[in-house]
Amino acid sequence: MTGLSAPTPDSENARRYERRAFSSAAVFGGMAETKLAPDPKAIKSALADPERVLGLLGLLDGAKRQAHGFVVLCPWHSERTPSCSVKLASDGTIAAHCFGCGVGGDVLSLVAAARGLDTRRDFGRVVEIAADLAGGSLDGYRPPVRRAVPALRLPPPVESVGALWAAARPVTDDPDLARQLLGRCLDPAIIEDRDLARCLPSSGTLPKWARSGSQTWGESGHGLLLPLWNPEGSLCSVHARLVESGQTERAKGLFPASHSAKGLFLADSFALLLIRSGVPKWWRQSEPPSVIIAEGAPDFLTVATHYGCTEYAPAVLGVVSGSWSDELAARIPTECRVVVRVHRDEAGEKYRDAICRSLSGRCRVFVEAGEVSHG
Ligand SMILES: [Zn+2]
Repeated sequence: MTGLSAPTPDSENARRYERRAFSSAAVFGGMAETKLAPDPKAIKSALADPERVLGLLGLLDGAKRQAHGFVVLCPWHSERTPSCSVKLASDGTIAAHCFGCGVGGDVLSLVAAARGLDTRRDFGRVVEIAADLAGGSLDGYRPPVRRAVPALRLPPPVESVGALWAAARPVTDDPDLARQLLGRCLDPAIIEDRDLARCLPSSGTLPKWARSGSQTWGESGHGLLLPLWNPEGSLCSVHARLVESGQTERAKGLFPASHSAKGLFLADSFALLLIRSGVPKWWRQSEPPSVIIAEGAPDFLTVATHYGCTEYAPAVLGVVSGSWSDELAARIPTECRVVVRVHRDEAGEKYRDAICRSLSGRCRVFVEAGEVSHG
């Protein structure tokens, strides 16, 4: 133990790192003979000099000294005056915190930010770079064998989605939910009739992904389920929605926990027919079918319940975060007239631009700013 600010190690491990931080054994978890992966803890204690680390990361330009460290230009956000504090914390490792954007973390987070990496996604790479920066102090370090890239996040298992959807009840079965839908000018009877959404099963266990944090969708009040489809027109996931209006801290729409909903979207039955098999033979109107693309679940339901049950009603697609893809665009028949109906905000403009770009030169696209904006 040297240095005034050195911490009191709280475990035998910490004590060992303290003494052996400059030997390669420490980098390999103190057990060089069995472990090959560099130990992030050892790297953190080896990279405990703010000035040296900031210098190595090129973050000393414009830095101001403060007790136990510096205030530097934030590596997480763009700024002209430094507001990111990087100092030696009471545990003897570097702690970073930006007072401008609120982001922060340990020395590995700092390395990741300075090198444009993501601490979670690129953790192995971040540790490697940090070990390299520790350089001489981690003499003998060899980069770990690269592990296979972690599996891409996928939608939930198709059987569990099918089972939940089969067990879900008509929206008219839940009087509270039906009342809340009516309160938003959505007719539960039409939603049920067109099978656009259902409500959570009243009994039985929900799949383990039907939760947000410690609460199940039932507990958090996300009782309205909307099916999410893939560009082949198969049911792949569900979107759970809180219908009650009013101020709430809770997210209004949820997707299965730990699963991806990328490329999945909402669709009414005519939209599914079009993307599965193109314009049907029975279509005899002089005008080709229209496809309305609405943003978000409430607007999707508003538009999909708006038209009467005529053979020539438009097809309705609903885009939620991450829905739009070139695969979906390619499934929309070329002769269709596409009406993009998005919110008048930044997210809406992004959807609009992405949709127009991917359909340009193929479908006729009309843009209509959404009048109705449901929270
Ligand atoms: Zn910042």
